Amino acid sequence: MMDPDMAREVQTKVILHWNYRGFKELPEELRIEGEHVKEVYLKWNVLDKLPQWLGVLRSLTNLYLYGNMLESLPKEIEELHSLVILDVSENHLSSLPENICKLHYLSVLIATNNKLSSLPKDIQKLTSLQTLHLAGNSLQILPESLCQCQSLEDLCLDRNNLLCLPSQIVYLPRLNSLSVSGNQLIYLPALPFTTEIHLNFNENPCLNYLPFPLGCQITSRNGSNADHWYLNCFGCFLRSLSDSTYLKNTILHVPPSSMWQNEAMQLVMPYELNHVYMPGSAQVPSLYEMTLRTVYTSLYHHIPQNIKLTRKHIFTTFRKLKFEWERYQIFPSSIAEQLRRGPVTICFHPNCQAPIFKYAVVWVVPVNNLTRSGQEISVLTVVYFCSQNCSLLYEKYELSNLNESEVLLSQSRTEWKYVQTL
Ligand SMILES: [Zn+2]
Repeated sequence: MMDPDMAREVQTKVILHWNYRGFKELPEELRIEGEHVKEVYLKWNVLDKLPQWLGVLRSLTNLYLYGNMLESLPKEIEELHSLVILDVSENHLSSLPENICKLHYLSVLIATNNKLSSLPKDIQKLTSLQTLHLAGNSLQILPESLCQCQSLEDLCLDRNNLLCLPSQIVYLPRLNSLSVSGNQLIYLPALPFTTEIHLNFNENPCLNYLPFPLGCQITSRNGSNADHWYLNCFGCFLRSLSDSTYLKNTILHVPPSSMWQNEAMQLVMPYELNHVYMPGSAQVPSLYEMTLRTVYTSLYHHIPQNIKLTRKHIFTTFRKLKFEWERYQIFPSSIAEQLRRGPVTICFHPNCQAPIFKYAVVWVVPVNNLTRSGQEISVLTVVYFCSQNCSLLYEKYELSNLNESEVLLSQSRTEWKYVQTL
């Protein structure tokens, strides 16, 4: 039975304010009369599912379902061709349907405080997606495909269980806000972001270091220089790791030192980087590593992008371009995948800047950091070189520029040793 008042409301309005109505399901009146409706507010109802007829709402641009009882979204959601804003926060969703990726106009997707443990793997098909808010879910890893959401500007992942971010995330061409507070991050990307980003990573207690270039980038706005940072972050650099979790990563053990603090620290390297050596060791890059570097450098048509880390140091990273892999089928798929993903980082020597895939010479350097409260603590940073030669040359390079050099990284670097390697 149609309610005539409600039918009239649907007929005469394009925006329906139906918050707090106690709806257990979407009213039939909407199905019969709602083809023209553009926005529906259904916050704080008790909907536990959406109907299969959802697709009749072909004009719908905004759908607000905050605070219902939804456990899943129907696959028919793909029929909401005009949808621009979808808010499904405060529900009980454990996943988002793959079909959601067919919403080509979807620009804002808010799914805060659900039970999501994964994201649709074809999420890059959401070509209009600018805002993605997923705080308060159960995400442990993010799909690499997220790094191809070219329109993404605002990504909030607070209060999940993330261990790391995909290294490619630094290439998102429009990302200006990334919030990853309250996760279990053990490292951050070893390259700076290609955009001017506001990065919030408070309360990741196992995050024990910052890669030096990224640290310079995110502190440079606060008037920091390379030997004194003002890092507005709390709840990090705190805890020794429980080792069993990170079996695939190389872990550096940094013994206590008067230079920074008196507790030993464990630094987890990005998982791709499984040949990590101290300056002065006799190990050289493998032929495989050399091949990856050479092929990547000569084939990959990327745009160099200069990021100024200090008054002197220009760090070149790359804006990723589409590359026609079909034309290079000579590569075994594993190598093609490595090349497609790109390097973990690049050599810190300004005159080299070679891509680094699996082998690096690593310096661990404490940097003085003034916190917001005015407290001075040392933060461990990591500097990567492509070879022993570059590490050595950088030492000389720094010394020869002694008067101009902003930071004497080599003089303040600290000892470390392996804990674990593949
Ligand atoms: Zn180098």
